[in-house]
Amino acid sequence: MKIHEYQGKEILKRYGVPVPRGIPCFSVDEAVKAAETLGGPVWVVKAQIHAGGRGKGGGVKVARSLDEVREWAGKILGMQLITHQTGPEGQKVRRLLVEEGADIRKELYLGMVVDRVTQRVTVMASSEGGMDIEEVAEHSPEKIHKVAVDPVAGLTDAEADDLSRKIGVPEASLPQARAVLQGLYKAFWDTDASLAEINPLILTGKGDVIALDAKINFDSNALFRHPEIVEMRDLDEEDPAEIEASKFDLAYIQLDGNIGCLVNGAGLAMATMDTIKLFGGEPANFLDVGGGATTEKVTEAFKIMLRNPNLKAILVNIFGGIMRCDVIAEGVTTASRAVGLKVPLVVRMKGTNEELGKKMLAESGLPIISADTMAEAARKVVEAAARA
Ligand code: ADP
Ligand code: MG
Repeated sequence: MKIHEYQGKEILKRYGVPVPRGIPCFSVDEAVKAAETLGGPVWVVKAQIHAGGRGKGGGVKVARSLDEVREWAGKILGMQLITHQTGPEGQKVRRLLVEEGADIRKELYLGMVVDRVTQRVTVMASSEGGMDIEEVAEHSPEKIHKVAVDPVAGLTDAEADDLSRKIGVPEASLPQARAVLQGLYKAFWDTDASLAEINPLILTGKGDVIALDAKINFDSNALFRHPEIVEMRDLDEEDPAEIEASKFDLAYIQLDGNIGCLVNGAGLAMATMDTIKLFGGEPANFLDVGGGATTEKVTEAFKIMLRNPNLKAILVNIFGGIMRCDVIAEGVTTASRAVGLKVPLVVRMKGTNEELGKKMLAESGLPIISADTMAEAARKVVEAAARA
Protein backbone atom coordinates (compact mmCIF):
# COMPACT_ATOMS: atom_id res chain seq x y z
CA MET A 1 0.00 0.00 0.00
CA LYS A 2 1.17 3.50 -0.82
CA ILE A 3 0.56 6.80 0.96
CA HIS A 4 1.03 10.47 0.13
CA GLU A 5 4.14 12.52 0.86
CA TYR A 6 2.43 14.55 3.60
CA GLN A 7 1.33 11.34 5.33
CA GLY A 8 4.84 9.93 5.04
CA LYS A 9 6.19 13.10 6.62
CA GLU A 10 3.75 12.75 9.54
CA ILE A 11 5.20 9.31 10.19
CA LEU A 12 8.80 10.55 9.84
CA LYS A 13 8.12 13.36 12.30
CA ARG A 14 7.00 10.83 14.89
CA TYR A 15 10.36 9.10 14.51
CA GLY A 16 12.36 12.26 15.02
CA VAL A 17 13.15 12.94 11.36
CA PRO A 18 12.97 16.71 10.75
CA VAL A 19 10.62 17.77 7.93
CA PRO A 20 9.57 21.27 6.79
CA ARG A 21 6.43 22.64 8.44
CA GLY A 22 3.56 21.96 6.06
CA ILE A 23 -0.21 21.65 5.77
CA PRO A 24 -2.19 19.36 3.44
CA CYS A 25 -4.95 21.12 1.45
CA PHE A 26 -7.91 20.14 -0.72
CA SER A 27 -8.78 23.54 -2.27
CA VAL A 28 -7.10 26.73 -3.45
CA ASP A 29 -8.53 28.74 -0.54
CA GLU A 30 -7.22 26.19 1.92
CA ALA A 31 -3.80 26.43 0.29
CA VAL A 32 -3.67 30.23 0.67
CA LYS A 33 -4.84 29.94 4.26
CA ALA A 34 -2.20 27.29 4.94
CA ALA A 35 0.50 29.58 3.56
CA GLU A 36 -0.73 32.40 5.80
CA THR A 37 -0.67 30.11 8.81
CA LEU A 38 2.86 28.92 8.03
CA GLY A 39 4.16 32.41 7.37
CA GLY A 40 6.56 33.44 4.59
CA PRO A 41 8.56 34.48 2.82
CA VAL A 42 8.84 31.35 0.65
CA TRP A 43 6.46 28.44 0.24
CA VAL A 44 6.42 25.34 -1.91
CA VAL A 45 3.14 24.09 -3.41
CA LYS A 46 3.32 20.35 -3.97
CA ALA A 47 0.94 18.01 -5.80
CA GLN A 48 0.10 14.96 -3.73
CA ILE A 49 -0.21 11.86 -5.89
CA HIS A 50 1.09 8.33 -5.36
CA ALA A 51 3.88 8.75 -7.88
CA GLY A 52 7.33 10.27 -7.92
CA GLY A 53 8.83 12.65 -10.45
CA ARG A 54 6.30 15.37 -9.59
CA GLY A 55 8.91 18.11 -9.71
CA LYS A 56 9.86 17.35 -13.30
CA GLY A 57 6.20 16.99 -14.28
CA GLY A 58 5.34 20.49 -13.00
CA GLY A 59 3.72 19.42 -9.74
CA VAL A 60 6.14 21.15 -7.32
CA LYS A 61 6.36 24.94 -7.46
CA VAL A 62 8.01 27.63 -5.37
CA ALA A 63 5.86 30.64 -4.42
CA ARG A 64 7.22 33.93 -3.08
CA SER A 65 3.92 35.63 -2.25
CA LEU A 66 0.41 34.60 -1.23
CA ASP A 67 -0.75 35.53 -4.73
CA GLU A 68 1.75 33.09 -6.17
CA VAL A 69 0.56 30.41 -3.76
CA ARG A 70 -2.98 31.00 -5.04
CA GLU A 71 -1.82 30.90 -8.65
CA TRP A 72 0.16 27.66 -8.33
CA ALA A 73 -2.47 25.95 -6.18
CA GLY A 74 -5.06 26.81 -8.86
CA LYS A 75 -2.85 25.43 -11.61
CA ILE A 76 -1.80 22.25 -9.85
CA LEU A 77 -5.11 21.22 -8.21
CA GLY A 78 -7.14 19.29 -10.72
CA MET A 79 -4.31 18.99 -13.24
CA GLN A 80 -3.59 15.66 -14.88
CA LEU A 81 -0.01 15.29 -13.66
CA ILE A 82 2.17 13.17 -15.92
CA THR A 83 5.42 11.79 -14.52
CA HIS A 84 7.67 8.86 -15.43
CA GLN A 85 5.79 6.84 -12.80
CA THR A 86 2.17 7.64 -13.75
CA GLY A 87 2.08 6.30 -17.29
CA PRO A 88 1.12 8.50 -20.26
CA GLU A 89 -2.42 9.20 -19.01
CA GLY A 90 -1.13 10.84 -15.79
CA GLN A 91 -2.84 11.11 -12.44
CA LYS A 92 -5.40 13.74 -11.39
CA VAL A 93 -4.23 15.96 -8.51
CA ARG A 94 -6.82 16.18 -5.72
CA ARG A 95 -4.63 17.12 -2.77
CA LEU A 96 -1.81 19.58 -2.20
CA LEU A 97 0.89 20.04 0.39
CA VAL A 98 1.84 23.62 1.12
CA GLU A 99 5.08 23.81 3.06
CA GLU A 100 7.77 26.27 3.98
CA GLY A 101 10.54 26.70 1.46
CA ALA A 102 13.83 25.21 2.59
CA ASP A 103 17.29 26.67 2.11
CA ILE A 104 18.90 23.87 0.11
CA ARG A 105 22.69 23.66 0.12
CA LYS A 106 22.96 20.04 -1.02
CA GLU A 107 20.44 17.38 -2.05
CA LEU A 108 21.25 13.86 -0.83
CA TYR A 109 19.45 10.55 -1.31
CA LEU A 110 18.37 8.08 1.37
CA GLY A 111 16.32 4.93 0.74
CA MET A 112 15.51 1.59 2.35
CA VAL A 113 14.11 -1.61 0.89
CA VAL A 114 13.81 -5.23 1.91
CA ASP A 115 16.52 -7.02 -0.05
CA ARG A 116 15.42 -10.53 -0.88
CA VAL A 117 18.97 -11.76 -1.51
CA THR A 118 20.41 -10.76 1.88
CA GLN A 119 16.98 -11.07 3.56
CA ARG A 120 17.72 -7.81 5.32
CA VAL A 121 16.69 -4.21 5.15
CA THR A 122 19.18 -2.53 2.87
CA VAL A 123 19.91 1.14 3.41
CA MET A 124 21.02 3.07 0.33
CA ALA A 125 22.47 6.55 0.39
CA SER A 126 24.00 8.86 -2.17
CA SER A 127 25.49 12.30 -2.39
CA GLU A 128 23.67 12.72 -5.71
CA GLY A 129 20.11 13.17 -4.45
CA GLY A 130 17.28 15.06 -6.09
CA MET A 131 15.33 14.51 -9.22
CA ASP A 132 17.84 12.44 -11.19
CA ILE A 133 18.55 9.53 -8.84
CA GLU A 134 17.40 7.01 -11.49
CA GLU A 135 20.21 8.21 -13.77
CA VAL A 136 22.76 7.96 -10.96
CA ALA A 137 21.69 4.36 -10.38
CA GLU A 138 22.08 3.59 -14.06
CA HIS A 139 25.22 5.51 -15.00
CA SER A 140 27.23 5.83 -11.77
CA PRO A 141 26.06 3.09 -9.40
CA GLU A 142 29.33 3.45 -7.44
CA LYS A 143 27.88 6.69 -6.05
CA ILE A 144 25.18 4.73 -4.22
CA HIS A 145 26.41 3.32 -0.91
CA LYS A 146 24.67 0.42 0.77
CA VAL A 147 24.42 -1.29 4.16
CA ALA A 148 22.51 -4.52 4.82
CA VAL A 149 21.26 -4.03 8.38
CA ASP A 150 21.51 -6.79 10.96
CA PRO A 151 17.93 -7.15 12.22
CA VAL A 152 19.05 -7.84 15.79
CA ALA A 153 21.45 -4.91 16.13
CA GLY A 154 19.47 -2.46 13.99
CA LEU A 155 21.26 0.35 12.15
CA THR A 156 24.26 1.09 14.40
CA ASP A 157 25.79 4.50 15.10
CA ALA A 158 28.96 3.41 13.30
CA GLU A 159 27.05 2.27 10.19
CA ALA A 160 24.99 5.45 10.12
CA ASP A 161 28.03 7.72 10.49
CA ASP A 162 30.03 5.79 7.92
CA LEU A 163 27.23 6.15 5.36
CA SER A 164 26.80 9.83 6.18
CA ARG A 165 30.51 10.51 5.66
CA LYS A 166 30.47 8.65 2.35
CA ILE A 167 27.72 10.91 1.04
CA GLY A 168 29.48 14.08 2.16
CA VAL A 169 27.68 15.01 5.37
CA PRO A 170 30.02 17.40 7.24
CA GLU A 171 31.25 16.33 10.69
CA ALA A 172 29.17 18.95 12.49
CA SER A 173 25.97 17.55 10.94
CA LEU A 174 26.72 13.88 11.68
CA PRO A 175 24.56 13.67 14.84
CA GLN A 176 21.55 15.03 12.93
CA ALA A 177 22.15 12.71 9.99
CA ARG A 178 22.44 9.77 12.40
CA ALA A 179 19.06 10.66 13.92
CA VAL A 180 17.53 10.75 10.43
CA LEU A 181 19.04 7.43 9.33
CA GLN A 182 18.12 5.62 12.52
CA GLY A 183 14.69 7.29 12.68
CA LEU A 184 13.88 6.20 9.14
CA TYR A 185 15.11 2.68 9.86
CA LYS A 186 12.95 2.48 13.01
CA ALA A 187 9.92 3.83 11.13
CA PHE A 188 10.53 1.29 8.35
CA TRP A 189 10.79 -1.55 10.83
CA ASP A 190 7.84 -0.59 13.05
CA THR A 191 5.39 0.01 10.20
CA ASP A 192 6.28 -3.10 8.16
CA ALA A 193 7.31 -0.92 5.25
CA SER A 194 8.54 -2.46 2.02
CA LEU A 195 10.15 0.76 0.80
CA ALA A 196 11.00 4.09 2.39
CA GLU A 197 12.70 6.89 0.55
CA ILE A 198 13.75 10.44 1.35
CA ASN A 199 14.77 12.13 -1.88
CA PRO A 200 15.99 14.72 -1.41
CA LEU A 201 17.38 14.62 2.08
CA ILE A 202 18.94 18.06 2.30
CA LEU A 203 21.72 19.89 4.04
CA THR A 204 20.63 23.46 4.65
CA GLY A 205 22.81 26.53 4.65
CA LYS A 206 23.05 26.22 8.43
CA GLY A 207 24.07 22.56 8.21
CA ASP A 208 20.71 21.12 9.30
CA VAL A 209 19.58 17.79 7.87
CA ILE A 210 15.93 17.79 6.68
CA ALA A 211 13.69 15.40 4.73
CA LEU A 212 12.15 17.38 1.84
CA ASP A 213 10.31 14.43 0.32
CA ALA A 214 8.95 11.19 1.79
CA LYS A 215 7.81 8.05 0.07
CA ILE A 216 6.75 5.01 2.07
CA ASN A 217 5.18 1.79 0.80
CA PHE A 218 3.84 -0.85 3.17
CA ASP A 219 3.65 -4.61 2.99
CA SER A 220 -0.06 -5.25 2.43
CA ASN A 221 0.19 -8.61 4.18
CA ALA A 222 1.07 -6.80 7.43
CA LEU A 223 -1.64 -4.13 7.29
CA PHE A 224 -3.88 -6.11 9.64
CA ARG A 225 -1.67 -4.96 12.49
CA HIS A 226 -1.54 -1.30 11.43
CA PRO A 227 -5.08 0.12 11.42
CA GLU A 228 -3.64 3.66 11.65
CA ILE A 229 -1.85 3.11 8.33
CA VAL A 230 -4.89 1.58 6.64
CA GLU A 231 -6.69 4.86 7.56
CA MET A 232 -4.26 6.69 5.28
CA ARG A 233 -5.30 4.74 2.22
CA ASP A 234 -6.47 6.98 -0.64
CA LEU A 235 -8.67 4.98 -3.00
CA ASP A 236 -8.60 7.79 -5.60
CA GLU A 237 -4.99 6.82 -6.25
CA GLU A 238 -5.60 3.14 -6.81
CA ASP A 239 -6.68 1.17 -9.85
CA PRO A 240 -10.48 0.62 -9.61
CA ALA A 241 -10.12 -3.02 -10.68
CA GLU A 242 -7.54 -3.64 -7.97
CA ILE A 243 -9.75 -1.99 -5.32
CA GLU A 244 -12.67 -4.18 -6.39
CA ALA A 245 -10.43 -7.24 -6.23
CA SER A 246 -9.17 -6.39 -2.74
CA LYS A 247 -12.80 -6.28 -1.49
CA PHE A 248 -13.08 -9.94 -2.41
CA ASP A 249 -9.63 -10.78 -1.12
CA LEU A 250 -8.35 -11.53 -4.60
CA ALA A 251 -4.76 -10.83 -5.58
CA TYR A 252 -5.19 -8.92 -8.85
CA ILE A 253 -2.70 -6.76 -10.74
CA GLN A 254 -3.65 -5.10 -14.00
CA LEU A 255 -1.06 -5.49 -16.79
CA ASP A 256 -0.66 -4.21 -20.36
CA GLY A 257 -1.41 -7.34 -22.43
CA ASN A 258 -4.66 -8.79 -23.76
CA ILE A 259 -4.86 -12.32 -22.32
CA GLY A 260 -6.72 -12.53 -19.03
CA CYS A 261 -5.43 -15.12 -16.54
CA LEU A 262 -7.43 -16.68 -13.75
CA VAL A 263 -5.27 -19.00 -11.71
CA ASN A 264 -5.14 -20.43 -8.20
CA GLY A 265 -1.87 -19.93 -6.36
CA ALA A 266 0.61 -17.13 -6.95
CA GLY A 267 3.32 -19.50 -8.16
CA LEU A 268 1.08 -21.13 -10.75
CA ALA A 269 -0.15 -17.67 -11.76
CA MET A 270 3.42 -16.53 -12.41
CA ALA A 271 4.21 -19.74 -14.31
CA THR A 272 1.04 -19.28 -16.38
CA MET A 273 2.05 -15.75 -17.33
CA ASP A 274 5.54 -16.98 -18.27
CA THR A 275 4.06 -19.73 -20.42
CA ILE A 276 1.77 -17.27 -22.21
CA LYS A 277 4.78 -15.09 -22.96
CA LEU A 278 6.78 -18.12 -24.10
CA PHE A 279 4.12 -18.72 -26.76
CA GLY A 280 4.23 -15.08 -27.87
CA GLY A 281 1.27 -13.71 -25.91
CA GLU A 282 0.97 -10.90 -23.33
CA PRO A 283 -0.95 -11.33 -20.06
CA ALA A 284 -3.64 -8.72 -19.29
CA ASN A 285 -3.45 -9.33 -15.57
CA PHE A 286 -2.09 -11.32 -12.70
CA LEU A 287 -4.91 -12.95 -10.78
CA ASP A 288 -4.64 -15.42 -7.95
CA VAL A 289 -8.04 -16.55 -6.68
CA GLY A 290 -6.43 -18.28 -3.72
CA GLY A 291 -6.51 -21.80 -2.44
CA GLY A 292 -10.03 -22.04 -1.05
CA ALA A 293 -12.13 -19.78 -3.26
CA THR A 294 -15.92 -20.08 -3.35
CA THR A 295 -18.11 -19.91 -6.46
CA GLU A 296 -18.93 -16.29 -5.57
CA LYS A 297 -15.27 -15.38 -5.37
CA VAL A 298 -14.50 -16.96 -8.72
CA THR A 299 -17.49 -15.17 -10.24
CA GLU A 300 -16.23 -11.82 -8.94
CA ALA A 301 -12.73 -12.60 -10.19
CA PHE A 302 -14.16 -13.27 -13.62
CA LYS A 303 -16.14 -10.03 -13.64
CA ILE A 304 -13.14 -7.94 -12.60
CA MET A 305 -11.02 -9.44 -15.34
CA LEU A 306 -13.72 -8.82 -17.94
CA ARG A 307 -13.87 -5.09 -17.12
CA ASN A 308 -10.55 -4.65 -18.90
CA PRO A 309 -11.30 -3.23 -22.38
CA ASN A 310 -8.07 -4.69 -23.81
CA LEU A 311 -9.09 -8.23 -23.02
CA LYS A 312 -9.06 -10.50 -26.10
CA ALA A 313 -9.10 -13.97 -24.54
CA ILE A 314 -9.03 -15.66 -21.15
CA LEU A 315 -7.04 -18.55 -19.80
CA VAL A 316 -8.28 -20.31 -16.69
CA ASN A 317 -5.55 -22.52 -15.26
CA ILE A 318 -6.47 -24.39 -12.10
CA PHE A 319 -4.78 -26.97 -10.00
CA GLY A 320 -7.51 -28.55 -7.91
CA GLY A 321 -5.90 -29.26 -4.56
CA ILE A 322 -7.90 -27.55 -1.85
CA MET A 323 -9.77 -25.78 -4.62
CA ARG A 324 -12.06 -28.24 -6.38
CA CYS A 325 -12.37 -28.16 -10.17
CA ASP A 326 -16.18 -28.32 -10.02
CA VAL A 327 -16.24 -25.10 -7.95
CA ILE A 328 -14.14 -23.39 -10.58
CA ALA A 329 -16.36 -24.78 -13.36
CA GLU A 330 -19.42 -23.47 -11.54
CA GLY A 331 -17.83 -20.02 -11.09
CA VAL A 332 -16.64 -19.85 -14.67
CA THR A 333 -20.01 -20.80 -16.18
CA THR A 334 -21.98 -18.55 -13.81
CA ALA A 335 -19.75 -15.58 -14.52
CA SER A 336 -19.69 -16.22 -18.28
CA ARG A 337 -23.47 -16.17 -18.33
CA ALA A 338 -23.74 -13.19 -15.99
CA VAL A 339 -21.50 -11.02 -18.16
CA GLY A 340 -22.48 -12.52 -21.52
CA LEU A 341 -18.94 -13.63 -22.28
CA LYS A 342 -17.81 -12.46 -25.71
CA VAL A 343 -14.13 -13.38 -25.67
CA PRO A 344 -12.71 -16.87 -26.22
CA LEU A 345 -12.15 -18.84 -23.04
CA VAL A 346 -9.55 -21.58 -22.64
CA VAL A 347 -9.77 -23.74 -19.53
CA ARG A 348 -7.21 -26.12 -18.20
CA MET A 349 -7.89 -27.88 -14.92
CA LYS A 350 -6.13 -30.68 -13.11
CA GLY A 351 -6.70 -32.37 -9.79
CA THR A 352 -9.64 -32.84 -7.43
CA ASN A 353 -12.97 -33.40 -9.22
CA GLU A 354 -11.30 -32.76 -12.58
CA GLU A 355 -13.68 -35.04 -14.48
CA LEU A 356 -16.75 -33.48 -12.90
CA GLY A 357 -15.47 -29.97 -13.64
CA LYS A 358 -14.74 -30.82 -17.27
CA LYS A 359 -18.14 -32.41 -17.66
CA MET A 360 -19.85 -29.30 -16.25
CA LEU A 361 -17.97 -27.08 -18.71
CA ALA A 362 -18.75 -29.38 -21.66
CA GLU A 363 -22.44 -29.48 -20.78
CA SER A 364 -22.71 -25.75 -20.12
CA GLY A 365 -23.35 -24.98 -23.76
CA LEU A 366 -20.70 -22.26 -23.58
CA PRO A 367 -17.98 -22.12 -26.27
CA ILE A 368 -15.19 -23.14 -23.93
CA ILE A 369 -11.92 -24.40 -25.39
CA SER A 370 -10.42 -27.04 -23.15
CA ALA A 371 -6.77 -27.96 -22.85
CA ASP A 372 -4.87 -30.64 -21.01
CA THR A 373 -1.35 -29.34 -20.54
CA MET A 374 -0.11 -25.84 -19.77
CA ALA A 375 1.67 -25.62 -23.11
CA GLU A 376 -1.47 -26.61 -24.98
CA ALA A 377 -3.54 -24.11 -22.99
CA ALA A 378 -1.09 -21.28 -23.59
CA ARG A 379 -0.81 -22.04 -27.31
CA LYS A 380 -4.59 -22.15 -27.69
CA VAL A 381 -5.21 -18.92 -25.81
CA VAL A 382 -2.48 -17.05 -27.71
CA GLU A 383 -4.02 -18.23 -31.00
CA ALA A 384 -7.49 -17.25 -29.83
CA ALA A 385 -6.33 -13.77 -28.80
CA ALA A 386 -4.57 -13.28 -32.15
CA ARG A 387 -7.76 -14.23 -34.03
CA ALA A 388 -10.03 -12.04 -31.90
P1 ADP B 1 9.36 14.58 -6.61
O1 ADP B 1 10.40 13.65 -6.09
O2 ADP B 1 8.04 13.90 -6.81
O3 ADP B 1 9.80 15.33 -7.83
P2 ADP B 1 10.03 16.33 -4.37
O4 ADP B 1 9.26 16.47 -3.13
O5 ADP B 1 11.30 15.57 -4.26
O6 ADP B 1 9.07 15.69 -5.48
O7 ADP B 1 10.32 17.77 -4.94
C1 ADP B 1 11.11 17.99 -6.11
C2 ADP B 1 12.17 19.05 -5.85
O8 ADP B 1 11.57 20.24 -5.39
C3 ADP B 1 13.16 18.66 -4.76
O9 ADP B 1 14.22 17.90 -5.26
C4 ADP B 1 13.59 20.01 -4.24
O10 ADP B 1 14.65 20.52 -5.04
C5 ADP B 1 12.38 20.89 -4.43
N1 ADP B 1 11.61 21.01 -3.17
C6 ADP B 1 10.68 20.17 -2.67
N2 ADP B 1 10.19 20.57 -1.49
C7 ADP B 1 10.84 21.72 -1.19
C8 ADP B 1 10.82 22.64 -0.09
N3 ADP B 1 10.00 22.47 0.96
N4 ADP B 1 11.64 23.72 -0.14
C9 ADP B 1 12.47 23.91 -1.20
N5 ADP B 1 12.54 23.11 -2.26
C10 ADP B 1 11.75 22.02 -2.27
MG1 MG C 1 11.56 13.48 -4.52
